[in-house]
Amino acid sequence: MTHDEKVRQLAASIRARAAEKGAPPAFQKASTPHLVPNPYARKNSRPTVNVAALDELLTIDAKKRIAVAESGLTFSDLVQATLKQGLLPCTVPELKGITVGGAVSGCSIEAMSYQYGGFHDSCLEYEVVTGTGEVLTLSPEQEPELFHLLHGSYGTLARLTKVTLKLLPAKPFVKMTYRRLATFGEFWSEMNAHCAKADCDFIDAIIHAKDSFVLCLGDFVDAAPFASRYDGLDLFYKSTREKTEDYLATYDYCFRYDTECHWLTATVPLLENRLVRRLAGKWFLGSTNLISWSNRLRGPLKLIKRRPDVVVDVFIPARRMEEFYAWYERDFDFYPLWIVPYRMKELYPWINPAHAERLGETLLIDCAIYGKPNGDPKLDYSELLERKVHELGGVKTLISRNHYDEATFWSIYDRERIARAKARLDPHNLFGDLYAKFAPENYR
Ligand SMILES: Cc1cc2nc3c(=O)[nH]c(=O)nc-3n(C[C@H](O)[C@H](O)[C@H](O)COP(=O)(O)OP(=O)(O)OC[C@H]3O[C@@H](n4cnc5c(N)ncnc54)[C@H](O)[C@@H]3O)c2cc1C
Repeated sequence: MTHDEKVRQLAASIRARAAEKGAPPAFQKASTPHLVPNPYARKNSRPTVNVAALDELLTIDAKKRIAVAESGLTFSDLVQATLKQGLLPCTVPELKGITVGGAVSGCSIEAMSYQYGGFHDSCLEYEVVTGTGEVLTLSPEQEPELFHLLHGSYGTLARLTKVTLKLLPAKPFVKMTYRRLATFGEFWSEMNAHCAKADCDFIDAIIHAKDSFVLCLGDFVDAAPFASRYDGLDLFYKSTREKTEDYLATYDYCFRYDTECHWLTATVPLLENRLVRRLAGKWFLGSTNLISWSNRLRGPLKLIKRRPDVVVDVFIPARRMEEFYAWYERDFDFYPLWIVPYRMKELYPWINPAHAERLGETLLIDCAIYGKPNGDPKLDYSELLERKVHELGGVKTLISRNHYDEATFWSIYDRERIARAKARLDPHNLFGDLYAKFAPENYR
C-alpha cells in the first residue's frame, strides 16, 4: 500500500470515529509505546484505530541531508538506514523502539541535544490527519503556530503521519571519554565548559552515587581500535564507572542505553546477572521487552496497591540546577541519575508565557530519574519531585504520572494557544484534552 493510501484509510477511520462521538480512540502502532504503564488505566475501554502500517522510511536525500519518514518508523530502523549513507538524525532518542511520531508528540532528548535541541527541533514538515479527517501539511512557513504546537501535544491535536527531518554527517564509530569527578561542583563546571565550547559531538552524564559523577563525552571517529557492545552480557551504564575510554559503533552508541532501558534492569531481580542474561536475555533485555513486561504486570501491581516506581524526565533551567541538585541529594537520594544538557532553539510556544518567564532561559538540564522505589505510604516521591520542579520553574515531561491539579497544569502549558490550535485541528475534541489525558484521577 502506498503512503497516500494508508493516510486515506486512516483519515476515513478517524471520520468514522468522529461520527460515533465516543471516547478518544487509542492508536495501535507496530511498536511498544514509551509511556510508563499506568496500573490504574482502564483496559480496552477505548475504540482502537490500527496505524501499524505507517512504519516505513519513505526517502533519504543524501545530498540535501533530508529524510522523509512515516510516523511509526522506529529510530532503530531510521538510524540503520541513514547510517548506510553516512548520515544520522540530529537527535536520536536512546531507545530503539521510540518512533518518529512519538518523539515529536512527546519529548525526546539525547546527548546531541545540547547543540540541536529535541528531535522536533530538526523537523522541517509534518503531515497530519486532523480530528475531522482532513490531511494537512504543517511547516514553519505554512502553518507556524500549528507546526510548533504539535511538539508536546501528546497526540491531543492531530495524528502525525509523515515527518520530514534534517540529517547530519556521521562517522562509523564514536570514541567515548569518561571524566570521573568526585563533587557536583567539579562536574557542573566541567560539563558547562564543554557545552559552552561545543568541543564534543555528544555530551551526557551519569551520577552513579553522591561521590561518583561521570561526564560522558563522545566524538565521531572514522576508525576504532576495538568496538565494545552492550547488547548482551555487559552493562553500558556500569562500564562508564569503570573505563576512562571506550569505542562503540555509531549504531550501538545511539542505543547504548537500550539493553537495560537505561538501568531499569536493576529493578528486576537477577537481570544483571551474566548467567541469567545469557539464558533469558532475549525475553527480558531491551527497552521493548522491559516496557512490555511492565505493561503485563500492571494488574498485580494494582492488586498489591503498590505505587509504580518513579520513572520520569524533568527539565530544570540550567541556572537553578545547583539548587535542584542540592535538594535532590538531600531529599530524593536516588542513583544513578541521568543528566542531559538540552538547548531549546527558542522557548517553546506551548509553555505558558508566565511559566516561560520563570523558566527564563533556553538551556535546560534533563534529569532522568528511572526506577526510584515509591512504596512509602506516607510520602509519594513522584509528587514531591513534581512540586520541586514547579518551584524551580522547570517542566516535568508527561511520560508517567501527573499530579498537578488543573490550575497548576495550565499555569505551565499555554491553554489559550493550545485551544486555538485545537479549534483548527480537532474542533470536536476527538483526540481528547491534554490535561484530561494526564489527569491525576487517571492514576488512582
Ligand atoms: C522508560 C523510558 C525511557 C525513556 N528514555 C528516553 C531516552 O533515552 N531518550 C529520549 O529522547 N526519550 C526517552 N523517553 C521518552 C520518549 O521519547 C517519549 O516518551 C516518546 O514520546 C515515546 O515515543 P513512542 O514512539 O514510544 O510513542 P508512544 O509512547 O506510543 O506515545 C507517546 C505520546 O505521543 C503520542 N503519539 C505517538 N505517536 C503519535 C503520532 N504518530 N501522532 C500523534 N501523537 C502520537 C501518543 O498519543 C502519546 O501521548 C523515555 C521514556 C520512557 C518511558
